[in-house]
Amino acid sequence: MNMLIGFGYDVHRLVPGRPLVLGGVTIPGERGLEGHSDADVVLHALMDALLGAAGLGDIGRHFPPTDPAYEGADSLELLRRVVALLAAEGYRPVNCDITVVAERPKIGPHVEAMRERISAVLDVEPRRVSIKATTNERMGFVGREEGVAAYAVALIAER
Ligand code: MG
Repeated sequence: MNMLIGFGYDVHRLVPGRPLVLGGVTIPGERGLEGHSDADVVLHALMDALLGAAGLGDIGRHFPPTDPAYEGADSLELLRRVVALLAAEGYRPVNCDITVVAERPKIGPHVEAMRERISAVLDVEPRRVSIKATTNERMGFVGREEGVAAYAVALIAER
């Protein structure tokens, strides 16, 4: 089976007055991430990993932040489009492994909901979507709670 791997990274700034959306799940009671779309840093890293695996560039190319069409965009919907782009190239997602770097909130209670939502879009079993979290030990911009970062790797295979 022909398989390809990709890597993605994203970071967004934490600001007041925005919903916090991570992995397709809105987490209440927190400052949110600033961005043109819903600023779902987890899904943005994942989309770049999937596009990277297929050699299709990055999300900035496919969904330009200057395009008003993507203002407030639901990143799960953008992920759906990325999966369709892969399908058009003859590929399907196999699995992904994501690390969220955030000082707060606690990601653990939301991981299963994220896996459900992401796996439904990728059309894989939830166990094929791994989401891990770490703090940055109070160091750097994440440690100062200025933003949230996410790293992802994804494997794709010929359909
Ligand atoms: Mg982003």
